[in-house]
Amino acid sequence: MQLSERVQHIAASQSLAMAARAKQMKADGIDVISMSLGEPDMDTPEHVRRAAQEAIDNHWSHYGPVPGIPSLREAIAAHHNKSLQQSNNTTLQQSNNTTIAFTGDDVLVSVGAKMAIFNAIQTLVNPGDEVVIPMPAWVSYTEMVKLSEGRVVPVETSYDNDYCLTPDQLRAALTPRTRMIILCSPNNPTGSVYSYDQLSALVNVLCDYPNVAILSDEIYNALVYNNTSIQQYNNPSLQQYNNTSLQQYNNTSFASFPELADRLIIINGVSKAYAMTGYRIGWLLSKNKDFIAACTRLQGQQLTCATMVAQKAAEAALTGSQDCVAQMRRVFDERRQLICRLAAQIPGFKFREPQGAFYLFPDVSAIGTGDEVAELLLNEAHVAVVSGSAFGCPSCIRLSYAISTSEITEAMKRIRQVLASRVGV
Ligand code: PLP
Repeated sequence: MQLSERVQHIAASQSLAMAARAKQMKADGIDVISMSLGEPDMDTPEHVRRAAQEAIDNHWSHYGPVPGIPSLREAIAAHHNKSLQQSNNTTLQQSNNTTIAFTGDDVLVSVGAKMAIFNAIQTLVNPGDEVVIPMPAWVSYTEMVKLSEGRVVPVETSYDNDYCLTPDQLRAALTPRTRMIILCSPNNPTGSVYSYDQLSALVNVLCDYPNVAILSDEIYNALVYNNTSIQQYNNPSLQQYNNTSLQQYNNTSFASFPELADRLIIINGVSKAYAMTGYRIGWLLSKNKDFIAACTRLQGQQLTCATMVAQKAAEAALTGSQDCVAQMRRVFDERRQLICRLAAQIPGFKFREPQGAFYLFPDVSAIGTGDEVAELLLNEAHVAVVSGSAFGCPSCIRLSYAISTSEITEAMKRIRQVLASRVGV
């Protein structure tokens, strides 16, 4: 069979490939610790599981409306409005007090945030259109843009700026052909979180380019570790950052900027916040009715609707008690502090303290390339990590700390032993 040109140029996901190798080594009897996958290790909350079971018993087993069950769409809009309101109230720097208010009509529910992003890109990007993506970036954006025959314009961000895009970099990357910018905060793979002021500076630039759509991937927005970064690690490179990180980090969103309302797309879902990766429910929000209608047409031809039982479970997650989210955030924060403390003792690791999500992204160029170090750690330390080359940053590696504290402690001990012999410590 002759494969289409389209699929022949699509790269396989390196994080999935690394996870598969770790799994195979485990099956071969090797004690491998996997820090390669981006999913919470916790169980889905009980009330959510119960809602899924009830949905089966109540026969949510038929086709549903293409954009999602109306009560779920309402719940998503209400959830976003509420979290925006909360972050608005606590964001010290914020000068205005208005946010974009969403209704259920502004929501399109898809099979995971991944599909929502794919839909948005397919709906907006024509062949040859440019899409600006700050690097490092999540693995799939680039491949999805390629599937639309768009042109990725990667913008390299710097360690010194905590891998955040600056207004000058953004302005330099925009051209009359720019159709979209994709921003992810909290960020996978870096763990960076844009502050309100940083977003505001980008918005000022975007106001000069009214034809550019903003795709804001906020899938990790429930996992922001406000104000906890007050300890100094044993690593001089962290000193300066720790001083600046005393300021309040809030869950800022592009939806805090009503001037973008007509061209903003917010991406989110239940995968990361509620440990529901396998339920495959994500969504996009947009005030642009033409865009939502076009995306809905596209989805109607692709999948009809997301799984009904999973939609009911997602509704229960959003409308039920949010204590489970706070609990998971606490657990991840403890792990984050542990991994930072241990990583600071590893020779050759230079890293920023992550402010959100559940990844550490050390620069390992003092030891070798990200590919070399990932290979070394898998073969000699039996720890699976993902090379930064998967995210457009070949000097780094990504470690997921969505594993237990005992596994983190053991993995970091092994990494330290292997790398110490490399850099002569
Ligand atoms: N966006 C980012 C930045 C991610 O890391 C992921 C998953 O790893 C997704 C989107 C997709 O999430 P979902 O499980 O909802 O498809």
